[in-house]
Amino acid sequence: MAQLIKGETGDWEIVIGMEVHAQVIANSKLFSGASTEFGAEQNAQVSMVDAAMPGMLPVLNEKCVEQAVRTGLGLNAQINNTSVFARKNYFYADLPQGYQISQYDQPIVGEGKIEIDLPDGSTKEIGITRLHLEQDAGKSLHDQHPTKSFVDLNRSGCALMEIVSEPDIRGPEEAAAYLSKLRMILRYLGTCDGNMEEGSMRADVNVSVRKPGDALGTRAEVKNVNSVKAVQQAIEYEARRQIDIIEDGGTVDQETRLWDPNKLETRSMRSKEDAHDYRYFPDPDLLPLHVENKFIEEIKATLPELPDEKKHRFMSAYGLSAYDASVLIAEKYRADYFETVANGRDAKLAANWVINELLGILNKDGKTLKESPITAEQLGGLIALISDNTISGKIAKDVFAEMYASGKDAGAIVEEKGLKQVTDTGAIEAVVDAVIAANPDNVAAYQGGKDKLFGFFVGQVMKETQGKANPAIVNELLKKKLG
Ligand code: ADP
Ligand code: MG
Repeated sequence: MAQLIKGETGDWEIVIGMEVHAQVIANSKLFSGASTEFGAEQNAQVSMVDAAMPGMLPVLNEKCVEQAVRTGLGLNAQINNTSVFARKNYFYADLPQGYQISQYDQPIVGEGKIEIDLPDGSTKEIGITRLHLEQDAGKSLHDQHPTKSFVDLNRSGCALMEIVSEPDIRGPEEAAAYLSKLRMILRYLGTCDGNMEEGSMRADVNVSVRKPGDALGTRAEVKNVNSVKAVQQAIEYEARRQIDIIEDGGTVDQETRLWDPNKLETRSMRSKEDAHDYRYFPDPDLLPLHVENKFIEEIKATLPELPDEKKHRFMSAYGLSAYDASVLIAEKYRADYFETVANGRDAKLAANWVINELLGILNKDGKTLKESPITAEQLGGLIALISDNTISGKIAKDVFAEMYASGKDAGAIVEEKGLKQVTDTGAIEAVVDAVIAANPDNVAAYQGGKDKLFGFFVGQVMKETQGKANPAIVNELLKKKLG
């Protein structure tokens, strides 16, 4: 259900549409051969094209086209056989061309859709309006000199995919889920690394409010929102601001606002320009782009299994809950790790150990799964020992801790420390008898109706056997002997 928020005049609905800029993974820029590697020295990766030297001509990088098509397919979207690069004209110090080469009314990818996962386990479809290719701008540096600004053109001309959503998103939670899912899909596809801290994925968030059932309200576009958390905070702030304005009898201006992550507020940057302000026109240096169906089909044939498919397969093939499946598919590496653990073993048990034990301890240690001291094969070995009753679930936790600390195999630890479960009924029976004999008062109390004492007896037997007695046999024998 869409989240509604309260105002003085009743409930309000927040409507959101996002424009996400995702930097394309490619070795060179969209129209030049300069490198795209992150972290290089300033202006070390700038070709004559990127610096807009007179007479330079852009040459389209086929790899970027392939990545855009790949992404479009991953967004279940229409791939357009013909698209057109257009000049979007504006002046800015970090834009030496005086225009950005983008796509306007004929983008390479048209309508699509993705499924988002909400915290309550439900899913929702969000429409994708379009995806187009465009150049990134350079970067102005204002903190290098007391009175001067500098420009770094390393990023100038890098390929971006702008992915525009329909205004289908309702509230901060859905916005976070959308951004997370989109990032997951891009990472699975290998078309964008999704690292928001490095700026390779950035979101413009369009926010408006309305009374449920009303027509769409006037939106404000919030720029510079660079983390999932900031997206949520910006929406909360912006919705409240707009509701206050309307409830005070005012109207919301259609404008571009900037998110200030320190003050946790949005502030006006400029009134929103309209498309005609940019004087878009087809770039005369570039022919219309034609992609053939064969090219599209070839890319389609190499698509990996995507997050939603994987999630549904994990649910049906392994019998996992929607929640467990969505945790496991969050990263491809994690999903692969789980499948290795589960291979030929109890999958639900495997999911449980990966999610609750392994991810739990890694998280506590600030480590990623790739840094895990326990390999998937090793964790699988532990699960196998639990399933065939070599060790109990309780002992398994100790073995797991030892594996994590030492990197040793479960079998070796069990052998070394003599942790094998005792399933010899005779041996357990002797301990049960001894425990009963040593606690006549409790036996009498239990038999007099204090059922809760059963746990006491189990605990005593486990203590005597250092936790190694098979719990099912212990229970059975105690029930029999205590009557
Ligand atoms: P522009 O490129 O000028 O920002 P677009 O028409 O491409 O404008 O829309 C940009 C984004 O704004 C889209 O994601 C769209 O879903 C969203 N949007 C449009 N109208 C609204 C609205 N009333 N409230 C919230 N988002 C909106
Ligand atoms: Mg916009």
